[in-house]
Amino acid sequence: MDYNSKLPNVGTTIFTVMSALANQYNAINLSQGFPNYSSPQKLNDLVTDALNNGYNQYAPMSGNLDLRLGISDKYELLYGSNYHPEKEITVTAGATQAIYTIISAFIRPNDEVVIFKPAYDCYQPAIEVNGGKTISIQLSAPDYKINWQEVASKLSSKTKMIIINSPHNPSGTVWSKDDMLQLQNLTKNTNIIVLSDEVYEHIVFDETLHQSVCLFNDLKHRSFVTASFGKTFHNTGWKVGYCCAPEYLMSEFRKVHQFNVFSVNHPAQKGIADYMQDSQTYLNLNNFFQQKRDLFLNLISESRFKFRPSQGTYFQVLDYSEITDQHDVDFAKRLTKDHKIASIPLSVFNEADKDDMVLRFCFAKTDETLIKAAEILCRI
Ligand code: PMP
Ligand code: GLN
Repeated sequence: MDYNSKLPNVGTTIFTVMSALANQYNAINLSQGFPNYSSPQKLNDLVTDALNNGYNQYAPMSGNLDLRLGISDKYELLYGSNYHPEKEITVTAGATQAIYTIISAFIRPNDEVVIFKPAYDCYQPAIEVNGGKTISIQLSAPDYKINWQEVASKLSSKTKMIIINSPHNPSGTVWSKDDMLQLQNLTKNTNIIVLSDEVYEHIVFDETLHQSVCLFNDLKHRSFVTASFGKTFHNTGWKVGYCCAPEYLMSEFRKVHQFNVFSVNHPAQKGIADYMQDSQTYLNLNNFFQQKRDLFLNLISESRFKFRPSQGTYFQVLDYSEITDQHDVDFAKRLTKDHKIASIPLSVFNEADKDDMVLRFCFAKTDETLIKAAEILCRI
């Protein structure tokens, strides 16, 4: 049968490729971003309680109400920002589904969507399968700073959406308040929707503050925030996340969401709702991951890899240019096969595979794994 692929250039994601290679060669897997320790016992118990107490049928389309109340309280507590639990918050099957649904609810053929590269890999295919056009702004190692004049020059009457992601995967950089004000300024009096992917909001280091779009009134009015409990509560396999937006945007989102997934795993939602009533469950995350980042960086400080400490996320970018001039994808594969340590090459997230000779390492791992990984990196 003849058919035209809607995504002719899309292959298997680098996360799948590198994790499979790590398994094949029995390498320490610091590639795909997931913890190698357990999800918190208390949370597991609360989900088990939910399973045993009748939370086994469809959740409400927009999410378990206790969970939406908990999310709403969190925004009030952390940002002094109000999202109405019934009208402005929807629980999703991970942030990936929220992102896809937002894009498909708003992007029509030939609409332009601005993204910053290196970009998390689910944005561009979601834009393009919906007929949209990706407008890329390429950032560069080591600081991935944004040139706001360049951003201004890429906006036009065709710009329908801008996707931002801070703390940023894969670079580990965090946008400043000034960056947010620049974005607010540029989008003022336009019809541009902002999709702010904030899945790492609770993982920022060295007293850095996470600048959520909801802190900026004009931005908040035009924005979706997306978030992932998998990142916050160490269970990426549960695939529960959510998004928040003003009611006029959220009502459009739900038109698609109800036919896309309708509703999300109910016992997990109820367990998470009960667990997050204690705000320490998410407020402790900065310290937890800062200790892991510092352990990892101290252990590799004498290696030939160069780095700027990650400002947020659970990823650390390492520059290997003193070791080899090999292309980053080839070097990442060689490290996995020959040295038994897997990472993610950044070029795959860049425009035209731009190679800055940097690799991303995930430090959401036990201290024991990080110590073993550092020993290998110090020998290279
Ligand atoms: N956005 C970013 C920046 C991510 O790193 C990830 C993956 N963790 C996601 C979205 C998707 O999150 P989820 O696993 O909840 O779908
Ligand atoms: N977000 C994870 C990462 O950046 C990967 C998720 C996935 O495998 N799709 O590593």
